[in-house]
Amino acid sequence: MRVIVTGGAGFIGSAVCRDLVGHGGFEVLNIDKLTYAGNLASLKSVEGAANYRFMKADIRDAEAMWEAFEGFRPDCVMHLAAESHVDRSITGAREFIDTNVTGTFVLLEAARRYWMGLGSDKAEAFRFLHVSTDEVYGSLGETGRFVETTPYDPSSPYSASKAAADHLASAWQRTYGLPVVMSNCSNNYGPFHFPEKLIPLTILNALHGKALPVYGQGENVRDWLYVEDHADALVQIVSRGRPGEKYNVGGGNERRNIDVVRRICEILDDLRPDGAPHEQLVEFVDDRPGHDARYAIDATKLESELGWRAGETFETGIEKTVRWYVDNEWWWRPLREQVYRGERLGLVA
Ligand code: NAD
Repeated sequence: MRVIVTGGAGFIGSAVCRDLVGHGGFEVLNIDKLTYAGNLASLKSVEGAANYRFMKADIRDAEAMWEAFEGFRPDCVMHLAAESHVDRSITGAREFIDTNVTGTFVLLEAARRYWMGLGSDKAEAFRFLHVSTDEVYGSLGETGRFVETTPYDPSSPYSASKAAADHLASAWQRTYGLPVVMSNCSNNYGPFHFPEKLIPLTILNALHGKALPVYGQGENVRDWLYVEDHADALVQIVSRGRPGEKYNVGGGNERRNIDVVRRICEILDDLRPDGAPHEQLVEFVDDRPGHDARYAIDATKLESELGWRAGETFETGIEKTVRWYVDNEWWWRPLREQVYRGERLGLVA
């Protein structure tokens, strides 16, 4: 199976590339613009593999996308390239609209043109997997979970741009018949996560004895999924998902942010007792504007239709993740020194 992965130098995309290349049976073309969030170091383990190649390109570049499709002749596309950080979308939404909305449009058009030129067997088997987020559904109250039919109600410029892209992907399926499948996933965590996000930021700040910022009172609830479980779900969805359908992906691991931060501190107290108790570094800071209270995913459809199951619980996954950051300074040190030093993002002036 020949797979184009967009955004393959990012957090989830690199997990997808490592998974596909390692499995065998897949030829992978990773297309990535290498924004601040793209990092080829995350692909070190596969960069020399015969079934992997990289193309530095912007998904908004229609000519480059067409060349990629014509040259590589994929059986499917896994579209992950996006601007992904909610805080950055609050202070600068333009890149989010440009990449997430316009970029998705350009990619859908390149895929459609290519798909229309395929013979009938190949055209029928072709898949375009559009990877999205549970944030498009907005915020939950204390009970209930998102299902695939939950109405869209995005709160942030990021989630609004993803919602727009989801609607484009659905429209290309309904209007043109392009075999699009979609996935909406909860918060991911794990190795190679850019250290602007809650979990890696907390781990690295704690390792450096720096304050651990927690938004508001840390009461917001997220449903955490280990990134390799997400990559596995995406491979199953692109291989066996039904065109025109969407699948929610989640690990059934709801946690309040403050409890996530406390658990990281406990693990570090064991691994780095010199800094204990790390919890004394917690600092409650002004909340993020438009901060959704709670997300929770009902993944029954994915589990019953495709037989997917998350392999990690939050307890096992977070322990692995903290250990990975402790052991892999080579990966995060250049990012902390040269790309992002941990300053607060996303406050409205
Ligand atoms: P990320 O920010 O780590 O990676 C995004 C990648 O896209 C980067 O490598 C970046 O260089 C690339 N990119 C950005 N703009 C591009 C452009 N114009 N052309 C080509 N490449 C471009 O993001 P992530 O966390 O890996 O998320 C991947 C996808 O999964 C996104 O679509 C995101 O919305 C979705 N998602 C993420 C989460 C999560 O918890 N991280 C949860 C659900 C869904």
